[in-house]
Amino acid sequence: MFVATGKSILNGIAIGKIKIYKVPELHISDEPVENTKAELERFEDARLKAQAYQKKLYQKALDESGEDTAAVFDVHAMMLDDDDLIDAIKEIIGNQHRPAEYAVKKACANQAKVFSDMDDPYLRERSADVIDIGQCVIDVLTGTDNATLQGTEPSILVAKDLAPSETVKLDKKLLLGFVTAEGSTNSHTAILARSMNIPALVQAGEIKDDWDGKMGVIDGYNSCFYVDPPADLLKSLKKRQEEDARKVALLTELKGKSNTTIDGKTIKVYANIGGPSDIGVVQQNDAEGIGLFRSEFVYLNSHNYPTEDEQFEAYRHVAETMAPKKVIIRTCDIGADKTVDYMGLEKETNPALGLRAVRICLTRKVFFKTQLRALLRASYYGNIGIMFPMIISLRELRECKDLLNECSKELIAEGKKINYVEVGTMIETPAAVLIADELAEECDFFSIGTNDLTQYTCAIDRQNAKLEPFLDIHHPAVLKEIQMTIEAGHRHNCWVGICGELGADTSLTETFLRMGVDELSVNPKSILPLRKVIRGIDLSKKQAE
Ligand code: PEP
Ligand code: MG
Repeated sequence: MFVATGKSILNGIAIGKIKIYKVPELHISDEPVENTKAELERFEDARLKAQAYQKKLYQKALDESGEDTAAVFDVHAMMLDDDDLIDAIKEIIGNQHRPAEYAVKKACANQAKVFSDMDDPYLRERSADVIDIGQCVIDVLTGTDNATLQGTEPSILVAKDLAPSETVKLDKKLLLGFVTAEGSTNSHTAILARSMNIPALVQAGEIKDDWDGKMGVIDGYNSCFYVDPPADLLKSLKKRQEEDARKVALLTELKGKSNTTIDGKTIKVYANIGGPSDIGVVQQNDAEGIGLFRSEFVYLNSHNYPTEDEQFEAYRHVAETMAPKKVIIRTCDIGADKTVDYMGLEKETNPALGLRAVRICLTRKVFFKTQLRALLRASYYGNIGIMFPMIISLRELRECKDLLNECSKELIAEGKKINYVEVGTMIETPAAVLIADELAEECDFFSIGTNDLTQYTCAIDRQNAKLEPFLDIHHPAVLKEIQMTIEAGHRHNCWVGICGELGADTSLTETFLRMGVDELSVNPKSILPLRKVIRGIDLSKKQAE
């Protein structure tokens, strides 16, 4: 067996024969041509055909996956009208007397380089799109049809890289999943894979031609690809795949339905995410919004402080993709178990009780303001809420809100557009529960973090597995705190959600509904099972013991 590891695009398992997808190396001659007029005509003809083809791909993607996914082909069609690119190609043909294929390849490579040197990560990604449209024109010029490379039986495609137009051309019925040696999780190919709900792995390292025809398994949960796995491993992965299939059946049945009890009470069921790459699974599971975007993962995934623009891109992407649905972004909750070297945080004796979350943000105001500015800028692109973690006092909440106001004023003065954002507090310390009335007066919403609330109420370090025998995850003190928080919130017109793991604990769903909770935010895969439970509850009847 060989195991390759990479970056997973979608949690899921794909099992099947490997098909190595290799575009044959085309020799593109740079020998001078005499009849440049004929070459210019060949180019123009191929450009128009490639454009018509991109429009066809747009329609195909629109029918199969929706506007978000299809948009890239619309952009490709427009790029094929780009005067700068067309002029550059014509210059190489007309003045340098080179063949059309060579001119297209060269001009597109030059423009792709300009994109790949840009600071903006979104524009950097567009360099692949220029190469892709160039390849499309070259395919027309050379009469190449890459779709035939997929073979005729269902398989896992393994390729050096896949361009978006190659991906959309693939016959979905024959595509079990794909693995690429290169590629990025933010590329349109990755976006396509997510929206097509296909397990895929990128950056999987060296691909070997002799894998062709062997058995392969993509384990999207563990970000690895097995070539020729042994029988016992194959059996357990098949079992996992079957479990997934059962969940998909549940998904189809409940998608589009409301989270309403038998007696008519509706609550919101939102998703918890760690970053933009989770959006695909959020959408597949029909979340009504995002109740907790743990923004610290943006910091944990970075080797240095993420800049305002980098953060803005991440938040904007999520806000824009989810719009008009709500996206609640928690400000950086770094510290305790989540640390990064570049912040130079000191080792502490009791890190869970130490410098973390807003405590860091309020002692490093420039750092905090960078995030708040990015969040406010992103607010223009959707329906964002901002919440502060680990609050224990009204003073802290006010300081956070003052900094947020300061950032709003700065951005408005700079001419940047921002939208109204709801502001909330995480309730995850007993102190916050006990002053919930005061906090609620100055918040739009509360989100109860039951993971930390349990840790701090029961004095049980959530990282310490040895304490598990002492832990009652349904501790009555925590349940009482939840009730107190909901009541306090409602007294002051502040809606209350739960975003800790208890929110997904279906044995407590009825209890939470009876307490009056307004929202439950859970990991995306728990949304539909939770919906099923909610739809089976009847609050007009006495709760069973
Ligand atoms: C919580 O404490 O319940 C929570 C949602 O935050 P985290 O688990 O990220 O600390
Ligand atoms: Mg917490």
